[in-house]
Amino acid sequence: MSKPSFILAIDQGTTSSRAMLFDRDGRPAGAAQQELPQIYPQAGWVEHDAERIWTDTQAVCRKVLAEQGVDADQVVAIGITNQRETTVLWDRATGKPLHNAIVWQDRRTADVCEGLRAAGHSDLVQAKTGLLLDPYFSATKITWLLDHVQGARARAEAGELACGTIDSFLLWRLTNGARHATDATNASRTSLFDIRRQEWDEELLGLFGVPRALLPEVLDNAADFGVAAGSLLGAEIPVAGMAGDQQSALIGQACWEQGQIKSTYGTGCFTMLNTGSELPLSKNRLLGTVAYRLDGKTSYALEGSIFSAGSTMQWLRDGLGLYKDAAESEAIAAGADASRRVYLVPAFTGLGAPWWDAHARGAIVGLTRDTDAADIVLAGLQAVGYQSYDLLSAMEADGAARPSALRVDGGMANNDLAMQFLADVLDLPVERPAVTETTVLGAACLAGLQSGLYTSRDALAGNWSLDRRFEPAMGADERAERLAGWSAAVQSVLTRD
Ligand code: ADP
Repeated sequence: MSKPSFILAIDQGTTSSRAMLFDRDGRPAGAAQQELPQIYPQAGWVEHDAERIWTDTQAVCRKVLAEQGVDADQVVAIGITNQRETTVLWDRATGKPLHNAIVWQDRRTADVCEGLRAAGHSDLVQAKTGLLLDPYFSATKITWLLDHVQGARARAEAGELACGTIDSFLLWRLTNGARHATDATNASRTSLFDIRRQEWDEELLGLFGVPRALLPEVLDNAADFGVAAGSLLGAEIPVAGMAGDQQSALIGQACWEQGQIKSTYGTGCFTMLNTGSELPLSKNRLLGTVAYRLDGKTSYALEGSIFSAGSTMQWLRDGLGLYKDAAESEAIAAGADASRRVYLVPAFTGLGAPWWDAHARGAIVGLTRDTDAADIVLAGLQAVGYQSYDLLSAMEADGAARPSALRVDGGMANNDLAMQFLADVLDLPVERPAVTETTVLGAACLAGLQSGLYTSRDALAGNWSLDRRFEPAMGADERAERLAGWSAAVQSVLTRD
């Protein structure tokens, strides 16, 4: 009997690098993980050692193969998913990065973005890229590197340098410099890519001062990205799938249809709605972005992010010392008096969509002499539900049809109480899948589709299975009263309209 076949999926995230094997039925078959140190050179700056990312990525790939007793020649294809927007600049001759990677959270180019906004460029950027003018996206990070690494700009213009997000840096290394490519979802987060025409945009390159010669080729999400060198894992393996992490989670959640929506509740929360062939142009500070591009056909998404979801639970743990493990929050909150109305607005680092208020700071509202720790923990869990309500409302205000259910994943999705409250406050069923490793699963799906191990998108959608569905059970009056209380609490912390 021939040995079984697998897909090897790499998930290079903000806090860790992981590798996971999936069998021919899309089932997880082992994982290895390595934490990634964060580098904070000064307030508001966040960097990663790109060389370390590469070393760790190789190590976790080798480890998962060794631990599962899988030979490299059993791996049909590699898929890559990655922290989006994080930017690396490297030397084409040596493959060496010229500087640490600048991470998506890094705010060092806030002034540059403010200047571009003041000069009236926001509409152009949004119309072409679907994005807001914000340091979050790659373009101004590239400009910063070109202007602060000595000689970089001249060398970039001479074609000696390459630049890309983490996916394309890993691909370069995996293929020994043979391929400089990225995929349409990662490209869509740079602020340099026209997501309608699906190409790097000369006007945007000019606006941000980025030489065209630096940028990778942009491929579909399932494509021939090149071949990982045999010397790395023991056999040559095609790299066949690639997507940014949130898009990959959308695929891992099998949200292939227009109107399907997922939320990932990790440190922060990312909600993404598949809008099909329609490119959304948000009037409510949401992002329009590429959901995926397959067979040359682009599907779009509307995206909103909440800065603090699981991190609120970490703050209750570490800042207030209310429990030792995030999972305990559920039992503690279950002991709260449901009739009390305490609201925790977790604006620790400002508020994300739809407010985008960087200067707002958090608050706990509605305290009485009876309030106890359980009420505050409950308020922390409920804040995620209320913020999700604000996001979905913004999506509806942007013209999105009401979805039939919300698919959830991420660490906090394991909290039944939080998920029930989410269903209640959204008045929408919430579905938690059996495989919650959706981000890495998405990359495996893409590589599996391209390599033929997985036969079709329909087959993958059929593989998605439900762990638990939370049905809304809250009365309309209570929901309205709670939402009014939440809205007043948010208004009390906002620093701009
Ligand atoms: P990330 O990928 O952003 O690191 P994860 O998806 O691993 O995040 O989720 C971890 C986050 O989820 C942590 O912030 C943690 O506080 C929170 N979390 C994990 N389990 C629970 C739980 N049972 N209840 C509430 N929060 C949880």
